[in-house]
Amino acid sequence: MVSKLHQRRSVRMAVFAMSLAASLCNAGIAAAQTAASTAGSVEPQLIEDLVAANRILADQGVLDGWGHVSVRHPRDPNRYLLSRSRAPELINADDIMEFDLDSNPVDAKDRPLYTERFIHGEIYKARPDVVAIVHTHAPALIPFGISKVPLKPVYHRSAFIAAGVPVFEIRERAGMTDMLIRDQALGRALADALGNHPAALMRGHGAVVVGPSLQRVVGRSIFLPLNATLQMQAAALGGPVTYLDPEEARKVEEREGYGLARAWEAWKRKAMAKQ
Ligand code: MN
Repeated sequence: MVSKLHQRRSVRMAVFAMSLAASLCNAGIAAAQTAASTAGSVEPQLIEDLVAANRILADQGVLDGWGHVSVRHPRDPNRYLLSRSRAPELINADDIMEFDLDSNPVDAKDRPLYTERFIHGEIYKARPDVVAIVHTHAPALIPFGISKVPLKPVYHRSAFIAAGVPVFEIRERAGMTDMLIRDQALGRALADALGNHPAALMRGHGAVVVGPSLQRVVGRSIFLPLNATLQMQAAALGGPVTYLDPEEARKVEEREGYGLARAWEAWKRKAMAKQ
């Protein structure tokens, strides 16, 4: 009886070990695999805008040698477009690659990939409303991720953060790490922290900003660190600070995209003239 039970346990353990080995093996394959085929060609105008978004945010000091911008694929919501691993100010149309939402490249061609591309894939999965995403290390945002002072809208261009900017504490989800969003699980954790907000701070690292278009996410990514600087300057003056009232923010928000094309044209011309 005892030996039969033992045998059964041994068989069960063996089956468990085999299935564990198989799933580990599958995970290994999944991590290295590339998505099956392209979702189709993309309008050159969108690629041009994605290149411009990178160049504009570099020119505006929002992206340095790191950070990235992506846009959801217009033909397939389960794909997104992102540059190969390259400094944003140097990116060209040839650098733009297609990824599936697990952040596997469609056609890597041995090109190096951004380590933190999982930020994009996991947010696109969690947020069907999001069309474009920026990941930035803008220095002005860092104090609000490492202190207890909440980032709040102090001027009209940042009304979009009236509902607050959550702070993603990677330690709570993953303990001690090198701070980078290196896999899908960390990307999911960041997407959870973002919730339905337009931006989330990443403690000691930077931020992620999302939007319904490339132009909107670029505008938001410029105005978010600018708001942080203005809020710190107002606090340094001493005394109470007057923030936008939620009602004011709502009224500004109704027109958030208004006039943005005008700014976009100027930002783009300046940034593209640098090449
Ligand atoms: Mn980063």
